[in-house]
Amino acid sequence: MALEIYAYKCRKCGQLHYPYRMVCKKCGKNDVFEFDTVPLPKNGKLLTFTTVHNLPPDFNVAKLTLGIVELENGMRVTGQLKAPSPKMGMRVTGKVEIVREAEYSKNFGFVFYPG
Ligand SMILES: [Zn+2]
Repeated sequence: MALEIYAYKCRKCGQLHYPYRMVCKKCGKNDVFEFDTVPLPKNGKLLTFTTVHNLPPDFNVAKLTLGIVELENGMRVTGQLKAPSPKMGMRVTGKVEIVREAEYSKNFGFVFYPG
């Protein structure tokens, strides 16, 4: 089964949210958790990126590059970027992978690759 990351779609106005919010940012009326989950698209455009050093020890890498990606549906998400020479505006494809692993918990997130 392919892993997915889900956005939360307001049942009243259709606005997508990611990450989860308790109140709809568009209509402001959704205070009863009336959201449907919708898988986020995987393809998008790299808006900007930054390399992070000095990560907490439960990241099993010494440094990583984070990118902000505008997905096909216009949503912006932050994910790990695995591109040898990233450029702003490049096309990227996301995969859902474990981005952080502690002894008893795994955190899944987007990892973006060129393409
Ligand atoms: Zn709404």
